[in-house]
Amino acid sequence: NVDWQGKHVTVAGLGVSGIPAARALHERGALVTVVNDGDDERSRAQAAELEALGITVRLGDGDTLPESTELVVTAPGWKPGKPLFLAAAEADVPVWGDVELAWRLRGPDAAPWLAVTGTNGKTTTVRMLASILEAAGLRTAAVGNIGVSLLDAVLGDETYDVLAVELSSYQLHWAPSLRAHSGAVLNLAPDHLDWHGSMAGYAADKGRIYEGNSVACVYNAQDAATEDLVREADVEEGCRAIGFTLGTPGPSQLGVVDGILVDRAFVANRQKQAQELAEVGDVDPPAPHNIANALAAAALARAFGVQPAAVRDGLRAFRPDAHRIEHVADVAGVSYIDDSKATNTHAAEASLAAYEPIVWIAGGLAKGATFDGLVTGAAKRLRGVVLMGADRALIREALARHAPEVPVVDLDRTDTGAMSAAVLEAARLARPGDTVLLAPACASMDMFVNYNKRGEAFADAVRRLADESA
Ligand code: ADP
Repeated sequence: NVDWQGKHVTVAGLGVSGIPAARALHERGALVTVVNDGDDERSRAQAAELEALGITVRLGDGDTLPESTELVVTAPGWKPGKPLFLAAAEADVPVWGDVELAWRLRGPDAAPWLAVTGTNGKTTTVRMLASILEAAGLRTAAVGNIGVSLLDAVLGDETYDVLAVELSSYQLHWAPSLRAHSGAVLNLAPDHLDWHGSMAGYAADKGRIYEGNSVACVYNAQDAATEDLVREADVEEGCRAIGFTLGTPGPSQLGVVDGILVDRAFVANRQKQAQELAEVGDVDPPAPHNIANALAAAALARAFGVQPAAVRDGLRAFRPDAHRIEHVADVAGVSYIDDSKATNTHAAEASLAAYEPIVWIAGGLAKGATFDGLVTGAAKRLRGVVLMGADRALIREALARHAPEVPVVDLDRTDTGAMSAAVLEAARLARPGDTVLLAPACASMDMFVNYNKRGEAFADAVRRLADESA
């Protein structure tokens, strides 16, 4: 336990994690200085509020380490290579992220953590998990990189039996002493490599979720990289490696048999081979990648001792967040699906695998990705493709290489209005029974404020189409 009285702490970054961190440390008697890169109107207003409490704020200078700093607490997104951190390393000053701070302040005492990371599916899995824990009658919340900060959760007035925690690779990077009850890595595909420096660095940061686990390390038995991370982790004695698979499960695995989600890892009755948990149809949507998410959530819940009936009830009660494979409407026999949250190729691959035939709407900011694998895998299911956004040429060229017979409409637009045009073009290409799927495989910021706005523009356009055809 840290004695905060008079300790010089530098908080890096105003914002969703920095402000509550600065307040919490100040309340505990630390001498807090906040450093921030930006010096705009918003940060000046935030600074004024903190200064009124007696906290020092330096705007427009996020790279100078204040003298006498004994600890840096950083916003998760700040890059490890930043001069501030190089200066901290030079001076032997430790750096913690918001998760590490929450853990050190009260983590283990607030409640056990069931933690989830992975390239895609984190939010969905954490919400499924929270739904299952609630169905089991446990006091819980979905927290972390998901809206409710860990600091607010562990320091707030609510008491919890267990927390369902979403952790990004950035947060894990800055959380050296976190020890979860159980952790899961859902999948590993290249993402954020500019931040982590390399795929190996990204994987190592994700793997931190297993360090010190006491009950279970949950891995994806169909993604060997996640199992490798379990092998490399240093866990408590008795902690088990638990796999999940869309196929028939081995011992110590959860999987699917004849449309039933089954558990062979936590079988109480020794006579029984497997414990039935739920039906595939209990999961919304019942697409393969989402069944994988459900199995991961079930594995963590079972590791915590939740009964099979609560797993089923929790999965049935779960509804996906907006813009994640969301069914918008059926128009003229064509189903319109909004997966605006598919902001990378690994995510788009999952939703493209779930439908057939597809009219695919794609494009945006590629973030350095290539599209050959994605297009090759989806080619035979594509009725047609409508492209827009800044990096659409990358997708168009991949289509020309691997699916030359698929008709492509290149809108050649990056304005917001392009989405309505895209929906009209897609409607023209589609035949009854087809699915029109917005799964951009790209970030949205070239055309929209964020993926939410992109998804809303799609849904609005689909509803107008429905009204006109009614
Ligand atoms: P995250 O929180 O990791 O960004 P979400 O649960 O918000 O993940 O899902 C983001 C997108 O990733 C979804 O819209 C879907 O396209 C895709 N996705 C969800 N789960 C998986 C999975 N297990 N594997 C691959 N893609 C997935």
